[in-house]
Amino acid sequence: MIFQPAHKILKEIRERNLSPVEVIQATLEWAQKLEGKLRSFLVLDPEGALAKALMLEEKLKKGEEVGPLAGIPVAVKDNICTRRMTTTCGSRILENFLPPYDATVVEKLERAGAIIIGKTNCDEFAMGSSTENSAFFKTANPWDIERVPGGSSGGSATSVASYQVFLALGSDTGGSVRQPASFCGIFGMKPTYGRVSRYGLVAFASSLDQIGTFARNVPDLALLTEVISGHDPRDSTSLPEPVPSYSKELDSPVGTLRIGVPWDLLQEGLTPEVKEAFEDALEIFERAGFAIEEVSLPHASYGIPTYYLIAPAEASANLARYDGIRFGLRAKGEENLISLYKKTRGEGFGAEVKRRIMLGTFALSLGYRDAFYVKAQKVRTLISQDFQKAFRKVDLIALPTSPTLPFKLGEKVQDPLSMYMSDLYTIPISLAGLPAISIPIALKNGLPVGMQIVGPALSESLIFKASYLFERESGLSNLKPPIVEELSA
Ligand code: GLN
Repeated sequence: MIFQPAHKILKEIRERNLSPVEVIQATLEWAQKLEGKLRSFLVLDPEGALAKALMLEEKLKKGEEVGPLAGIPVAVKDNICTRRMTTTCGSRILENFLPPYDATVVEKLERAGAIIIGKTNCDEFAMGSSTENSAFFKTANPWDIERVPGGSSGGSATSVASYQVFLALGSDTGGSVRQPASFCGIFGMKPTYGRVSRYGLVAFASSLDQIGTFARNVPDLALLTEVISGHDPRDSTSLPEPVPSYSKELDSPVGTLRIGVPWDLLQEGLTPEVKEAFEDALEIFERAGFAIEEVSLPHASYGIPTYYLIAPAEASANLARYDGIRFGLRAKGEENLISLYKKTRGEGFGAEVKRRIMLGTFALSLGYRDAFYVKAQKVRTLISQDFQKAFRKVDLIALPTSPTLPFKLGEKVQDPLSMYMSDLYTIPISLAGLPAISIPIALKNGLPVGMQIVGPALSESLIFKASYLFERESGLSNLKPPIVEELSA
């Protein structure tokens, strides 16, 4: 049962052939088998999940309304606030933090009848591309447990890829939903900036952060995304635009779409395995009747240096609130205020977070602000304009998600710059605030490869439709990593 797509399970539950309690029990049993090997979760809440399932069962018996995700087990990244479970952001500084409120997306999931079974591991404050920056432990890639699952939402991606949950939420600031989705062989959507409320998402870089979704097929992903999207008066950057029913629109015709490929950006860093998989994927698109064209994004290759000024600058301001007074950890034995700040932050933050706070503080400091931060903002505008120009010519843009296959655990931890390069193809899209999906396109050496489909602002529906066409044409969905095959045999 746990290997079925969520939309099938939903139907079974609604027709009363399956009960939410049965689904939750099967899920928790399976999660127990895998958790020791993969370590996707920072917290699991079996009791809470069962209680919720029982409540849903009562409602179903009485014929009451239960919501579009009723009875579906989901996982939530641990930088999204939940009242019932701690929210650590993968950091010592928030190790015991129990938020006094739920994030808007969590409220929406609960209202839709989804069952949140746990909080997933992530890079500390979502800074990283491998989940190795978590202060607690590392998470393994289900396709090869010696490799990273990607990051920073690596726990959410593995929990879905290994069938521990049907759906999960992550956050994507520069690629943290798309890259782990690609590394784990599943689908991941980063919606348009402002499409999903950030209320209750712990801030990293506020002008880039966006909550995103994971699933093993497009219909499930479309459904989850539509449930969490929409305007929220509690987030002043959320867009007051109606949300189309992405899942219902999936089958409506798209005509002959023009897909642009930014070959200029792909000159750098692309490994032969990923290039080959990507070229094959373009052929599948052509077979499905799409026209492939070349587009140019001349400033996109400045994405990484631009991002590593803007994101740390915003992070240095956002993380100032962890002072030992208001949230989480407080260092012991300090008598004066300044030394309390220093010791708390010294003990509470890991190396990558400290590196970013220093970089950001420097980029914003008097005398350097114009040369670095302001300059980066200008380049960000140029990158946005590149996309606007390209979308005058084509409907969507396709490019690989990551330039490489999933790398080995430990391979890049000593070399932050090579870690940063993982996001070469995702970051320009984040800087432009555009929606993008990552979809599986191949297995190379037994490891998944992903491709992004990017569209203009608020074109999620079109992106889902194109992805769905690809999914059906390629047959690449609901993939089973070897560890899942083994343990289910
Ligand atoms: N890997 C990028 C970083 O380290 C992106 C992270 C993210 O999207 N949260 O900042």
